[in-house]
Amino acid sequence: MSAPGTGPLVVLPDVLEQARVFFEDRGVIGCEGTALIAGVPGEPADRLVVPDQRATPVPRASVTVTPRGDLDLLVALSDEQRYFARIHSHPGLAFHSPTDDANPVLTHEGAVSIVVPFFGLGLRTGLAACAVYVLTGGRWTELPPGPERDAVVAVR
Ligand SMILES: [Zn+2]
Repeated sequence: MSAPGTGPLVVLPDVLEQARVFFEDRGVIGCEGTALIAGVPGEPADRLVVPDQRATPVPRASVTVTPRGDLDLLVALSDEQRYFARIHSHPGLAFHSPTDDANPVLTHEGAVSIVVPFFGLGLRTGLAACAVYVLTGGRWTELPPGPERDAVVAVR
């Protein structure tokens, strides 16, 4: 993670590739997917953690982490690792829905939320087609592509 001034959250391309494959697999049956990105603070985020989840396919299209999934998330990390970002797919355009805003998956200042459009296909061009939000002062703020976003999250 990145406190202000310490540089962006760096995510390894392989983590996004794992997310893309997972989301596209869910998309085949009309379902969204959700996951968390983790790593050791100060090092590139190198883990995608996919918790047990239950999705309702389109047209309703929703996904929730099950109680077992909550447990998955609790035990997935080593003592040194932390969750930095959440990432989930939408059937269509990428944006934070009211449900996404209310979802307390990550609550720490500077947490990142990535929304992937078109059932994961949007990740074929990295984060450029995705919506990216950062949690500041208890609010999720959208970061359009550009320097402001690059200062918070980078893929390399
Ligand atoms: Zn959403």
